[in-house]
Amino acid sequence: MAETKLVPVLVADISAELPKHVSPSQLSSFDRCSLAYWFSSVAGWREPAGLPQIIGTLVHDVLENFLKLKPEKRTKETAWNLLRETGEVVINSNKSWLTDEDIVTLKDKSAESLKGYFDLEDPASLEVLIDDIERPVTAIFESVKLYGRLDRMTRDGVVRITDYKTSKKPAPQYLTDSLRQVMLYAAGLQENGLTVDEVELIYLPGRDRVRRPTYKSALDRAVHHLVTTRRKMDSSLTSKTWMANPGSACKSCSFLKACPAKTSKAPIPGSPESEELLATFNLEKRVRNKSSIENSGMEMLPFGESAQ
Ligand code: SF4
Repeated sequence: MAETKLVPVLVADISAELPKHVSPSQLSSFDRCSLAYWFSSVAGWREPAGLPQIIGTLVHDVLENFLKLKPEKRTKETAWNLLRETGEVVINSNKSWLTDEDIVTLKDKSAESLKGYFDLEDPASLEVLIDDIERPVTAIFESVKLYGRLDRMTRDGVVRITDYKTSKKPAPQYLTDSLRQVMLYAAGLQENGLTVDEVELIYLPGRDRVRRPTYKSALDRAVHHLVTTRRKMDSSLTSKTWMANPGSACKSCSFLKACPAKTSKAPIPGSPESEELLATFNLEKRVRNKSSIENSGMEMLPFGESAQ
């Protein structure tokens, strides 16, 4: 595989801070391209969800609500009804841009994931506590605050964190990032006094399962990655220099036309010209509402992320 060359990009001083905490998905986003991370998580430009994300969220929502039902109610019929109802809401709320072809893809792929789920396990015999579904995980490592929500945790003699995937299982070398994310949740729970024995990735469409024991060096590596990545974010913020990572991700990047590493004559990110340009692409900018967060006593969520 050809190695991509990172391109340092200087951004304007927009007096923005980093999100107060770091989630596993933020770490992946920063690793993919730290300049794209800056546009979305620091400057606050909301990237519209693409079809794969919408399908992923739909399937996660269906499984979340389905597994919160009593075991005897977890039938195929109930699951398909949930998929139909939730899918309709999702299609209606995105109908301004979903094409007929997209809707067919959304229905086919979400159905394939649900079928895969039933082939992989019998939900009626799954023991899971409601609090362990979409369970929030918070912990502090070397003053770096971790926050995220795991898909589910089960405790049937083995304490196991499970993460659902609506994509096909990638080649082994591409599993590292996904495994590190669940290991980080395990490390966060361990910090709170709960030992997790195993992590699991379930690739629903391909009916593939990947399990790993939570051995110490894997947890340490996940924590080390969290802390070192946050240090890199701090350093980029201070130097106002973020590394663009031109590659295959650029094709679907919302910031392509405003990215100096990919578009010659693109204005300096964060400058009024760049902000104006991004606004013409129908991207919205989020405003962090400090007062509502302070009143609620909640930590600020990172941009581009729902609490899931
Ligand atoms: S276009 Fe490519 S290099 Fe530029 S911000 Fe997006 S992903 Fe990064």
